[in-house]
Amino acid sequence: MNPIEHIRRWQEELTGWRRDFHAHPETGFEEVRTGALVAERLESWGIEVHRGIGRTGLVGVLRSGNGDRAVGLRADMDALDMPEANGFAHRSTVPGKMHGCGHDGHTTMLLGAARYLAETKNFNGTVHFIFQPAEEGQGGARAMVEEGLFRRFPCNAVYGLHNRPGMPVGQYGIREGAMMAGCAFFDLLIQGKGGHGARPESTVDPVVCGAAIVSAFQSIIGRNVAPNDTGVVSVTGFSAGTAYNVIPDQVSLRGTVRAFKTETMALIERRMHALAASIAEGFGATASLDFREVTVPVVNGPEQTAKIADAAAAMVGEAAVDRNRIPAMGSEDFSYMMAEVPGAYILVGNGEGEAGGCEVHNPHYDFNDAAIPYGAGVLAAVVERELARMEK
Ligand SMILES: [Zn+2]
Ligand SMILES: [Zn+2]
Repeated sequence: MNPIEHIRRWQEELTGWRRDFHAHPETGFEEVRTGALVAERLESWGIEVHRGIGRTGLVGVLRSGNGDRAVGLRADMDALDMPEANGFAHRSTVPGKMHGCGHDGHTTMLLGAARYLAETKNFNGTVHFIFQPAEEGQGGARAMVEEGLFRRFPCNAVYGLHNRPGMPVGQYGIREGAMMAGCAFFDLLIQGKGGHGARPESTVDPVVCGAAIVSAFQSIIGRNVAPNDTGVVSVTGFSAGTAYNVIPDQVSLRGTVRAFKTETMALIERRMHALAASIAEGFGATASLDFREVTVPVVNGPEQTAKIADAAAAMVGEAAVDRNRIPAMGSEDFSYMMAEVPGAYILVGNGEGEAGGCEVHNPHYDFNDAAIPYGAGVLAAVVERELARMEK
């Protein structure tokens, strides 16, 4: 039976779980209630649960047959620090916290896949259900990897997904190679010499110097990154000064950088250091740049991309699978797992317009429950392909 159809029989129950997660959002490394519910359900299906990997992360282990191959399926569990503007019954009950990215749905999808695989066991090998904490910029995937995720639970391949508002329910999007960008944050402090606003000759004005650096940073994308490659440098903060007639001592800038290749990220960082230091020197000021990697790019393995796209197409038809999805400048920390084990990351349609079209991280967003069987189904189906039973 098509896993989507099989899982759809639990639609009502899965929707109930998803809405319960939505009503009780927990942010990074605080997913205690969510993790406990996940563990309880996995255990009720005979899945062995290992808790406390990456603090609130957990792994379920399900074996079938005697195959020695293993597949990891990953979902994120965390909510966002943002107030919810929805008024429906399952809206957030925690002020200032909201499942604004649909991780309530991803957690439910992976539970659906686990239940299906535990019930049907139509595979030969081991499945590791990876429920990760803190995807939203706090390094949950990295924490799990550093705490020995793949040493304790070795995997031959890992798969993850994300809901995509604006893409119809029942459709999928994926591409081989770079799928989402790597992300870095930076802080830049420019130290000048403050003084009277009417006597600039006795100062080293860090505002003028900062403005020159902001402009020069834009030349990195235009002049240093190759035209057929791509990147983003966005200065998103510029703070200086407290009075109309005082030239301040310091300026602090901050922002984000995105790139699809680690080499491009390294090139941008080098150029930012060089430009900031030499421009500041030219103005008689000094600049110190703190550049921090937040996530590495999501790079889909060719074999795994084909496997999960084929698994999806076998269920919904080739026309509903976009195998050449345009890469996104957003980032995703599942990349840290994919840097250890070859894998693929697929987008699952969350619907259009009223039903699921609202963009993630928007206070009106809600995960579309109609998408649950499609996410759960594709994860289950890729396991059946990766760990196919030998016909005797
Ligand atoms: Zn998000
Ligand atoms: Zn997300």
